[in-house]
Amino acid sequence: MIDLTLTEALHKLNSGKISAVELTRAYLDRIERFGGDLNCYITTTPERALADAAASDARRAAGDAKFLDGAPIAMKDLFATRGIRTTAASRMLENFIPEYESTVSQKFIDAGTVLLGKANLDEFAMGTFSKTSYFGAPINPWQMEKRLTAGGSSGGSTSAVAGGLAIAATGTDTGGSIRFPAAITGLVGMKPTYGLCSRWGCVAFASSLDTPGPIARTVDDTALMLSAMAGHDPKDSTSATQGFTCNAPLEPILGNGKKLRVGIIRELGDVKISNDMKTLFEKRIADLKSMGAEIVEISIPNILDALAAYYIIAPAEASSNLARYDGMRYGLRVEGADIYDTFKKSRAAGFGDEVKRRMIIGTAVLSSESYDVYFMQAARVRRMIADSFNTAFEQCDLIVCPSSAGTAMPLNTGLSPLEFYALDLFTVAMNLAGIPACSVPCGLAQNGLPLGMQVVGARFDDMRVLQLAKHIETAANIDNRPTKIMGK
Ligand code: GLN
Repeated sequence: MIDLTLTEALHKLNSGKISAVELTRAYLDRIERFGGDLNCYITTTPERALADAAASDARRAAGDAKFLDGAPIAMKDLFATRGIRTTAASRMLENFIPEYESTVSQKFIDAGTVLLGKANLDEFAMGTFSKTSYFGAPINPWQMEKRLTAGGSSGGSTSAVAGGLAIAATGTDTGGSIRFPAAITGLVGMKPTYGLCSRWGCVAFASSLDTPGPIARTVDDTALMLSAMAGHDPKDSTSATQGFTCNAPLEPILGNGKKLRVGIIRELGDVKISNDMKTLFEKRIADLKSMGAEIVEISIPNILDALAAYYIIAPAEASSNLARYDGMRYGLRVEGADIYDTFKKSRAAGFGDEVKRRMIIGTAVLSSESYDVYFMQAARVRRMIADSFNTAFEQCDLIVCPSSAGTAMPLNTGLSPLEFYALDLFTVAMNLAGIPACSVPCGLAQNGLPLGMQVVGARFDDMRVLQLAKHIETAANIDNRPTKIMGK
């Protein structure tokens, strides 16, 4: 039952072959067996899950089934869930129980899903290996004995879905946190157009970049998840007016003489990637060509400056967003001699090293001496990158590029902060531009580990992004069934 995709499970649920309670029990059993080893959940909610599942079966029996009724999912522990601890993987929020429900998690309640628990992540979503989590890093279910990273920051979500501890999950992507972890765990991860999914009730990292999105085992499943998550929200001032709706299976966008121009970014050609990534990327491009796509070279002149711009803008916004954790209204409070001492002691004890590093960088680039040379300059680079993508989309319909340079690395790989930041090279530009990008498996490397490539579209072209991703998925045809990956 664990190997069923979301699409398959919904068919079986709708035709009465399985019940939501049976499906949920299968997942709870799996969480019991492997949750500790994978460390993919910070909080599990078995009672809530069984209650959700029973309610789902009752709705279905009454002929009242909702869009994803009975689907057992994991929620990244950045989305506030009423009455359920929401930590952002930080000591600061270790005991925080929200009194409200985030828009995204509410939409999943409305869609009839079953909540299995809150997935592990990097502290405040800052990181790439989920190692900055106060609760320890999740493990990649592929070749588990090697203790590889499941990526970050949505590494608990990818670990859970790849290992069969959730049928699908939510993530957030500020600079790659959905796409990178999905790529190195053999999953599909979609960063939708900025504004398509509401940020309300999602713990803020860098508000102009933060993008909630889905993680699933197939592109069709991802499209279903996105349909449930997307939609205008008056409570988020940057929420888009348009939504996203799609019923799987997605329509082919290639074949039968359909014309599609697929762009390749010239400047990324000079970036060093592994031989496997290069070979698989080229293979998939050849496949697209043979399916009738026209491959065109396009240019995003400043794309290699995206990293520098991102690592100024994101920390600047983070330093401002994290000012609210002062030990006063909620979160950790360490009593000091006076109120300022309490601020200082609470923040010193509540935040981890990487979060502090971001706040220091952010405060520095926003200081009056640095504002023009760093923050304003980064904002200009951001605008140029967004403009270049707009121009490129006059020459092509969609763009493809690698999701990462190589496969999952061991968690204990010694990387400096700057080396960690450099891993985001392939993903941050799309956040700066606010455009949709989906990472889809493009094959297995020689070492047996999965690699992913991205399909990138113009703003609100999310549907075609998924449609092209589905062709790549079919061509790559990797086996990502959880019992296959884990061998059990
Ligand atoms: N790795 C990036 C960072 O640490 C991206 C994080 C994210 O997308 N949340 O900032």
